Amino acid sequence: MSFIHLIIFSQFFLFCTLILTHNPFSTLSSNHINIIGAGLAGALMAAILAKKGYQVRVYERRPDMRKTDISAGRSINLALSVRGLHALEEAGLKEDILELAIPMPGRMIHDTAGELDFQPYSKDPNHYINSISRGELNCRLMDKSESLKRVDYFFEHRCLEMDFDTGEIVIQNEQTGEVFSEKGLATIAADGAFSAVRYAMQKTPRFNFSQDFLDHGYKELTIPPGPNDTYLMEPNALHIWPRGQYMVIALPNLDKSFTVTLFLPYEGEYSFERLQTPAAVRQFFETQFPDAVPLMPTLEEDFFDNPTGSLVTVRCFPWAIGEKVALLGDAAHAIVPFFGQGMNAAFEDCSILSECIDGADGDWEKAFSAYQISRKVNADAIAQMALENYIEMRDKVADDRFVFHKQVEHMLERSHSTYKSRYEMVSFTRIPYAEAYRRGELNQQILERITDGVTSIEDIDMEMADRVIEEVLGDLN
Ligand SMILES: Cc1cc2nc3c(=O)[nH]c(=O)nc-3n(C[C@H](O)[C@H](O)[C@H](O)COP(=O)(O)OP(=O)(O)OC[C@H]3O[C@@H](n4cnc5c(N)ncnc54)[C@H](O)[C@@H]3O)c2cc1C
Repeated sequence: MSFIHLIIFSQFFLFCTLILTHNPFSTLSSNHINIIGAGLAGALMAAILAKKGYQVRVYERRPDMRKTDISAGRSINLALSVRGLHALEEAGLKEDILELAIPMPGRMIHDTAGELDFQPYSKDPNHYINSISRGELNCRLMDKSESLKRVDYFFEHRCLEMDFDTGEIVIQNEQTGEVFSEKGLATIAADGAFSAVRYAMQKTPRFNFSQDFLDHGYKELTIPPGPNDTYLMEPNALHIWPRGQYMVIALPNLDKSFTVTLFLPYEGEYSFERLQTPAAVRQFFETQFPDAVPLMPTLEEDFFDNPTGSLVTVRCFPWAIGEKVALLGDAAHAIVPFFGQGMNAAFEDCSILSECIDGADGDWEKAFSAYQISRKVNADAIAQMALENYIEMRDKVADDRFVFHKQVEHMLERSHSTYKSRYEMVSFTRIPYAEAYRRGELNQQILERITDGVTSIEDIDMEMADRVIEEVLGDLN
């Protein structure tokens, strides 16, 4: 080979290397996995796949939230419980994430007179859910997955389409406007409740899809830190102001503030459409949530500055197409937030998908198929329980009969190892959601029978309770 040939060859080799290593937009297929969406599920799944040795590319339509001031935006917090923690533990991230969390062992109910009533979530004082900032959690998941060296994040890159014949995803660089296609071993769509990939799947034959919006929306408000950097309310509780058709909740943040969320109908006597002026907002809060008002100096500003969010349940099937793509998290099953389980369910998806990948020996179709069969029935169950829990949170927690049933449940949980409340099963165990739903229905039968005509714990006939529990839950033994 002449010197000139050598130069030409080496230049060509250098050019190819640059294209393949520095241009993430090569349309050549390669051995990486594409994830759409760097939200909670996408960032955790990236870490899980990287730990398995896969190269991962994550396309996220928003800018990198680690470089923008998230504190200036809405400081939303979420309740993280056992299912989510288990998935984080499997990924080796539980301790890192728990540093950001505040334990909440029960609900603090605020009545209209400002009286407080603490209701533990579990008979076991060591069982608690955790308040965690969505932004901080998301940033930490991205940091941790990136530190594994196999994950590349592409921010301001929006997925527009997917071709399910070729497996190519179509991505738009939001800064330059450039549109390109690329293809990996497989794609995991974690692009949230309004998923672009799911939208593309809706155009394929026999794809089932439904979305149901609640008549209620939500608005985020804030209780700032008190004097000398203190909490203005009990920090180790999820605060609820239940008022029948509407309610307010508040979860603590590490900076001593609380994120407050108002859930309210869009229309009607007490509704967003009636709260059009600062005076109307103040009057509504002063009559309905009087003890919260002095703690909220920016009530009116927050109310009109922050958007009103909608609440949707999305159901669809299938969740996967061959070996090409699978939906994950809200993209597959958005649920209303009243069981505090959307993120937990999304993290549980990651854990089950991880198991299915391990069991499929490189066969992505087999992995995706096993994953969707395992998860669909459970996603449907938690969607239903979340809808039912809305009624419980806004209405029943203030109802004497409901509170009595809760006390009886805790007593039964102490006296009978087979009896577990639905909340206990959902939040503090990994019993599959569908099984928790079924057992919750059986619990209700038990409670109705043993509290029939009874108003205090002391009057419960424990022999009869033993018989009823044995009869109804006998199979579980
Ligand atoms: C008011 C409220 C309170 C909640 N409280 C709780 C709670 O207490 N506990 C709990 O477990 N869950 C809670 N949830 C649910 C939880 O927020 C979601 O279930 C969770 O965020 C789902 O994670 P995800 O990664 O699937 O979706 P997301 O977190 O929504 O992430 C999706 C990501 O995809 C990106 N994206 C979207 N479209 C594209 C595109 N075309 N291309 C590229 N990127 C895209 C988005 O920018 C986003 O980053 C709550 C939800 C709401 C609305």
